[in-house]
Amino acid sequence: MTASSSEIKPLSTPVEEVAQKLESPQDIGFVFDIDGVLLKGKKRIAEATEIITYLSKKKIPFILLTNGGGMTEKKRIDFINMTLQLTETPIHEDQLIQAHTPMKTLIPHHKRVLICGGPKDDVREVAEGYGFEDVIRPVDLIRANPTIWPYHMFTDEQIEEWGRDPASSKLDVDGTGCGENLPIDSVLCFNDSRAIGAELQVILDLLNSEDGVLGTRRTYKSGKPSIPIVFSNNDFLWSNEYKQPRFAMGALKIAVLTIYEKINGQKLEQLTLGKPEKVCYDYAHHILIDWRKVLLGEKQPGNLCLPQLNDPPINTPFKKVYMVGDNPESDITGGNNYNWGTILVRTGVYQEGDFERNPETSRPSLGIFPNVKEGVMAALKLNGLA
Ligand SMILES: [Mg+2]
Repeated sequence: MTASSSEIKPLSTPVEEVAQKLESPQDIGFVFDIDGVLLKGKKRIAEATEIITYLSKKKIPFILLTNGGGMTEKKRIDFINMTLQLTETPIHEDQLIQAHTPMKTLIPHHKRVLICGGPKDDVREVAEGYGFEDVIRPVDLIRANPTIWPYHMFTDEQIEEWGRDPASSKLDVDGTGCGENLPIDSVLCFNDSRAIGAELQVILDLLNSEDGVLGTRRTYKSGKPSIPIVFSNNDFLWSNEYKQPRFAMGALKIAVLTIYEKINGQKLEQLTLGKPEKVCYDYAHHILIDWRKVLLGEKQPGNLCLPQLNDPPINTPFKKVYMVGDNPESDITGGNNYNWGTILVRTGVYQEGDFERNPETSRPSLGIFPNVKEGVMAALKLNGLA
């Protein structure tokens, strides 16, 4: 039996769009997804260059919000500026929030952290750049004791190049090495796993350890893990050149949650960042407000606030904020739930007919547009700014 439309609950309800006459370009703000909105793979979307240049020249505040990561904010923004050919009005790295950027806020209480995911050993540089004092990677554990996951596929050269010496990382995993085996404070999944078997094993080891000490096993079962775990996003699939979508971090998360529940008989308490989570939009809202201050000369770039997690701004200077994305499930759902206006573009994952095939998909408040430029210009016109 097919459900009638009145029985179908949308994932999120868009705000009602009303025409208004905003007075200042800084009354409005835009939050852009990157992949499928500004870039298509490694190539630019031409209209993105035009509209980003336009917004920068008009001093209209905007930031970029992506569930991607695995590299420093500086590296990604340099790549975006180069690809979009934004030599005249480059985007500042302060304007970029990657999935793992809000992890910075954890630093005061998370000194020694296991950082999972990402290509090669790149996320070690990211985490150390954020200021984490003592960064441990799964490859460090394998270097300290390969029997922790004997099926690993790292070559000797990779272990030597990417893994830290066990004495310097204080990892005496088998009790025969440096004599120290310091506890780990938390597990932070920064980016998609490249060594999913090894990561699953060591993550579950730590969540069920005695206070984060590897090689130990706690004697009780609980939904609360021995040390906290944070996932940078909940994306289940991503697209590449292959015909079918590929597993992303959400798949690792399902595996961790399922195995944890099998061991403990209770659901794992964890934190997930990224779109469409509210925690991610709260963070983004703070950064957008601060970037507006930079445009007004009230703040210097490089000196933006560090918003705390789950701490929404008390006041906002914006009369309207739009989330612009290509993915109804993350960008549009998150934006609608946050009471922002939402703009869906046709240059990415959204395909014609998706709403008919999937009536529960979140719909954008302003509409579906051929590209980012047309969407933003429609928003500016509706709000009396173009
Ligand atoms: Mg996208």
